Amino acid sequence: MKIKFYGGAEEVGRLGIDIDMGPKSFLVDYGVIPEKPPLYPLPADPVNAIFITHSHLDHIGSLPIYYHDKQADFYATTMTANCMRPMLNDSLKVMNLEGYPERFSREDVDSLFTNYVPAKYDESFDIGNITITPYNAGHIAGSTMWKFEDRKSIMVTGDLYTEDTALLRGAKPVKTDTLIVESTYAGKHHEDRAEVKKRLRRRVQEVIEDGGKVILPSFAVGRTQELIMTLADLDYDISVDGMGNLITGIYMSDPQFLRSRKEFKKAVGRVRMVRGFRMREDAIKSDIIITTSGMLDGGPVLNYLQKIADDQKSAIFLTGYQVEGTNGRSLVETGRIKIAGATVKPQMQVEFFDLSGHAGHDDLVKFIKGCEPEKVILCHGDHREALIDDLEEFDLELPFNGKEFTV
Ligand SMILES: [Zn+2]
Ligand SMILES: [Zn+2]
Repeated sequence: MKIKFYGGAEEVGRLGIDIDMGPKSFLVDYGVIPEKPPLYPLPADPVNAIFITHSHLDHIGSLPIYYHDKQADFYATTMTANCMRPMLNDSLKVMNLEGYPERFSREDVDSLFTNYVPAKYDESFDIGNITITPYNAGHIAGSTMWKFEDRKSIMVTGDLYTEDTALLRGAKPVKTDTLIVESTYAGKHHEDRAEVKKRLRRRVQEVIEDGGKVILPSFAVGRTQELIMTLADLDYDISVDGMGNLITGIYMSDPQFLRSRKEFKKAVGRVRMVRGFRMREDAIKSDIIITTSGMLDGGPVLNYLQKIADDQKSAIFLTGYQVEGTNGRSLVETGRIKIAGATVKPQMQVEFFDLSGHAGHDDLVKFIKGCEPEKVILCHGDHREALIDDLEEFDLELPFNGKEFTV
């Protein structure tokens, strides 16, 4: 079979993989790097079907571009598909606001969803003589690894997390001949997640007991819900604002993907969902505010920061990867951010807690070995070489965007 990356080979983000299996060809993901301006993948060839690993923009952000002049069934879990629509419509809104040319329209988003075919974990189906099976990828709710099989098999992990979290079950290895695996954390090791959570809870308590507030900038999909699970049982007033609320509603209505529907419901019942301007005025009085955007590049988080930036007793706790060029990265590196065109130096305490949804180096190696592949293809990483020594026994490929190769 022939494989080509349209994006996301030697970089984190804008993943797009063309897998040509003889009579049938498939596209897995078609994302964007939400930089300023956004970076798009190479143009995609027509395929027989499209498979989506999960609803983060670096995996879906360019998908409507495909539907502008082409058609194909697209397969995803219900959770992924339901989260995709608000994510794509929001990205259209952001393109407009920031004045970048729109690469797709609302009609293209609609055309995408008229081609949607729901898929369920562990339930195989056939396209021609190829058997396809989706598996849990453990990264966010509904995230999927896709396995394609005729005489030989190939599996694409998408973003991968292998440990159980408060919210989700981790991914388990699946036997496959060829494995295309993400490598975001190649060479990097996570601090123990349970310890990070303990530290986060302790620091939240310290800041509030000292008279401050804690703002947690957070991605709408996945991280917002995990922070709710992590902090809801503390005896504080918690407000959640931004698109995370909409996504939390989708999580509640499709709980089959969660580790415990009961625990999640209980946690969500303890926080206040901020809706509209009035509630936002009030929410600033909360002890804890969880809100978008996760990298401080827009969204309600900037309203809150504007109001309490000078309060040295309060804190900003970052919990996600901060991409180069974002306000979040600038805050970590220089202590400054841009709000409405002005550069601001918040006096608040700034701390980072590693709650990544990507498998760390050792977990990646363990997972890959568990799949017992002949060939391993590393993608979605800018430091892939760090894995070479630990994967000596495999036929290893580090592909580049735009260069087709044969397996
Ligand atoms: Zn990704
Ligand atoms: Zn992701």
